[in-house]
This record gives sequence, structure tokens and C-alpha cells, in this order.
Amino acid sequence: MPACSVPDAQGGRPAPLVAVLGGGQLGRMLALAGIPLGIGFRFLDPSPDATAGALGLLVVGPLGDETALVHVTEGAAVVTYEWEGVPAAGARLVAATGTPVLPPPVALDVAQDRLREKELCHRLGIGTPEFAVVDDRADLERAVKELGLPAVLKTRRGGYDGKGQTALHEPRDVERAWSELGGVPLVLESLVPFDRELSVLAVRGRDGATACWPLVENHHDGGILRRSYAPAPALTEQLQDTAERLAGKLLDELEYAGVLAVELFDVQGELLVNELAPRVHNSGHWTIEGAVTSQFENHLRAILDWPLGSTAAIGVNAMVNCIGAMPDPAAVLAIPGAHLHDYAKEPRPGRKVGHVTVTATDAGELRESVARLAGLPGVDVPA
Ligand code: AMP
Repeated sequence: MPACSVPDAQGGRPAPLVAVLGGGQLGRMLALAGIPLGIGFRFLDPSPDATAGALGLLVVGPLGDETALVHVTEGAAVVTYEWEGVPAAGARLVAATGTPVLPPPVALDVAQDRLREKELCHRLGIGTPEFAVVDDRADLERAVKELGLPAVLKTRRGGYDGKGQTALHEPRDVERAWSELGGVPLVLESLVPFDRELSVLAVRGRDGATACWPLVENHHDGGILRRSYAPAPALTEQLQDTAERLAGKLLDELEYAGVLAVELFDVQGELLVNELAPRVHNSGHWTIEGAVTSQFENHLRAILDWPLGSTAAIGVNAMVNCIGAMPDPAAVLAIPGAHLHDYAKEPRPGRKVGHVTVTATDAGELRESVARLAGLPGVDVPA
């Protein structure tokens, strides 16, 4: 493969090539943001149907496979990933060839292990739900005594969208929870009586410059994100500052470059970290139309060592996921301020196949437009 397979589009300067590990909708939206900037894309994905393949060269292979990694990253200016499950060893293998892998592979180590995430937060003085390590049945009994109930038992690795976790409300749930999840490293967390779930999307450039988008309020059902509102309703300067401070500590500690998403529980104004995602994130999709610079563009600017763009919101925004089915485009586009994103994925129950962002100038207008999505296939909005 030539050093750079992308046509020279910049008057003599080679167009930068970004290799993305993973070729799902996040990779696709990175490319949709990067192509206008003259960036070329290659993707590595185990599926020949990976949706990002429509926007760049798709190498089909396992994400940790050495030959496939060499193939997809050769000649790239930078390598990034769109899934935190990418094997960290593969990312390190690429980094050892001298091609920057950003965010740095250490972010994968941390985000792939709920215990490491929590330990990192604690080291930095950032709050999390109370937790205890559970490696065997006796640990679970001890942890339940220590933390009390209700609590959530989670696998340390591999959980996502509410999978790999189960809630315990009374002592007899211990048996069931252990039979559901026992046998792998686990962590028990106190069930937090949060007021709402928020996330902060932060970006750090290679020069150390950082910026955060306004906090986002997230609504889940069945462990899956259904809707996000941004800026989060009733957002105060103090809450935003708290979120920015904690995100900044994580970014600096990890010597990070790119977008980091931090999922948070808001407990009467105190922010507890639930999870980190070292990548662009579903709760940041609103930034495509709702912010001066989208999370996708700023991720690319950050990893290519280009100046970051403003993260300011434009008006008020809602993002509604399309899960298991896509609504009729004409029905969505008839709604004022609605923007449709179809990921061109085969619909399956529980699968994210697209999203709608609604932009508005005020909360009333936003509510009205979002309510008009009610009843359309794939969307879950209050009528
Ligand atoms: P997670 O996979 O850790 O993001 O969890 C999925 C969802 O489960 C979260 O978005 C919360 O709604 C809920 N959840 C997870 N952990 C806790 C906790 N410690 N306390 C309360 N709710 C939780």
C-alpha cells in the first residue's frame, strides 16, 4: 500500500489519512465531519457490512489482528478508535511503529475495566458511587454487608448498554446475581439515587488545550440511551465548572488527545462518575447541528494537532435515538428543527440505527418539536 492512498486535495500538501479502529456509526460520523476538511479515512472492522465503509477504505478483520492492523494503519497520519473495546495490545502494537494512536492506549486500559476507572477517579479526587471488588462469592457477601442494598453488581470488563450488570434490592438477590454474573471479575456499586444522568464531553488537543461542551442530560431505558438534552435543562455555571474540572483532571492525567465522554450521576448537584468512554459518544451527537464545532470535528482536530473549535451550543437541542427501526424521513423532516441521521444499518431489536437531533431557540419550541416525534417507529419520546 502506498504511504498515503488519498488523492492530494490540498494544493501540494498530502491530505492527512486517519485510520479508525472500528467502522460503526461513530466512525461514519467522524468521516462525515472530516471529509470536508480534506481528511481521508480507512476503517478496520470485523464486518464487511460496517457502515463507515461507505466513506473510506474498509479493511475487514478482527480489531486486534496484527496483519489487519498493519494494513489499515500503514501511511496514516494518526490512528484513532471508535469503540473502547478495541484490544489495547493491538493499539500499542501500532503505536510502537511510530504512528500516533490517539486517544493514548492507556485510556483503553482504564475504560475497559470498571475498577480501574473508579480507582483512577479516586486517585484524582473525583467522586464515584461507592464500590467494592468482587472476585468470588464470599467477596459478594462481604461487599453487600459493606455497601448495603440496593446495589448493582457489574462485570469489570465487557459490559455496555446495561449488559453485564444486575441490580440487588434484597438479600435473596445475592444468589440470583451471583448465578447471573459470577465467575468473572466483578465490582459491586451502591445504587445511586440520582436526580438525573448527565454527561460531559471534553476534548484535549495534542498541545494540551482543552474544551468542554455544555453538560448533556441523558435519558436511558433498559440500559440504552434514548434521548439527550443539551445544554442540560437548568444547567448552572457551578455545575458546568464542576464537570469541566473533573474532565480536565482526567484528560491531563491520561495525557489525552481527542474526545473523552464522562457519564455522570447528578445527586443534588454533586457529580459522581459512572463511566468513561475514550471516544466520541452517543450523548454528543447533538453537537453536529447544535454546537459551533461538533464532537466529531473536534476529535479530528485534536488528534491531528489542529486548533480546537468552539464548543459553544447554538440554541437548545434534543437528540433522540432511533432504536430497532428508522422513522419515515418525510415524517421527521416535516418537524421544525429536526435533522435526521440514518446510519444505513440493518434494523434489529435494540440496535441503534440512527438518530434525530432537534434544534430550537427555546425550551418550549424544543418540547413541541420533540413531542411531534412521538409514535414514529424507533423513537421513544414522551408524548
Ligand atoms: P452503565 O452500563 O454502567 O452505564 O449502566 C447503565 C445504566 O444503569 C446507567 O445509565 C444507569 O441508569 C444505571 N446504573 C448503572 N450503575 C448505577 C448505579 N451505581 N446507581 C444507579 N444507577 C446505575
